[in-house]
Amino acid sequence: MEKFALLSELLSQKGILHRSNLFRPGRARVELMSLAHCPHYIDAFTHNSLDTKALRRLGLPWSEGLIKRSWVAPNGTLLTAQLALRHGIACHLAGGTHHAHRDFGSGFCAFNDLAVAALGLLNQGRVQRVLIFDCDVHQGDGTATILAETPEAFTCSIHCDKNFPANKATSDLDVEVTKGCGDDEYLEIVERTLNHCLDQVKPDIVLYDAGVDIYQGDPLGLLNISLAGLRQRDRLVLETCTRRTIPVATVIGGGYDDDRPALVARHSIVVEEAQRCFARLG
Ligand SMILES: [Zn+2]
Repeated sequence: MEKFALLSELLSQKGILHRSNLFRPGRARVELMSLAHCPHYIDAFTHNSLDTKALRRLGLPWSEGLIKRSWVAPNGTLLTAQLALRHGIACHLAGGTHHAHRDFGSGFCAFNDLAVAALGLLNQGRVQRVLIFDCDVHQGDGTATILAETPEAFTCSIHCDKNFPANKATSDLDVEVTKGCGDDEYLEIVERTLNHCLDQVKPDIVLYDAGVDIYQGDPLGLLNISLAGLRQRDRLVLETCTRRTIPVATVIGGGYDDDRPALVARHSIVVEEAQRCFARLG
């Protein structure tokens, strides 16, 4: 959990985050969470009555801090999406908990902020079509299952075939990248897939999961993407969306490293690239 505060500190130090562009989400309303999650699960998770098996699947120890963060982060993704609709581009310094399913948590994800935000936007009538473009190294399985019956929300996941989860769900579009894939091949896949999705879906907004676990040094990823490749991916996605005047909201997604400053620097890349894009929007 440490990385969230460190990311905000780093962006402040770099002069990217300041009082005039910082927005703080509050706790999500239960009605919003219920769009994506089963009331029994919401209640059991919140009140620490999940059984041992369910907690093991979630992969995180229950704590007051985890509950607080889990209730705020999905609202943060929704707020980020609303800001993107207003300003063209916006970044959430958390989010991307894409392994959370409707009635259970999994892989360090309790609530699925991407599904909550997509359903929240559709429910408010803010948009007609949402594209969730998930470039975390792991498949967005929870997002795929929660939104399976929602044709207005198109789920696309580009992930490493050998990574978690072992049993993949079915997104609207799944693109499997082979273990050890390097920058050139990966970037070509991302570019082709994004253009295909934008042409086909014609979304009113893109929710972009910019997971940094594609990085070659990530202990949980199996790809061979350099730091420069990571930056190129984020630039490519953000520039493609803004060039087509499609609002884009980013979430940080996965990223793991005992070297916290190095990890946080990787998560800051998408925000740096967003700032560059935003400056050009005028
Ligand atoms: Zn991941």
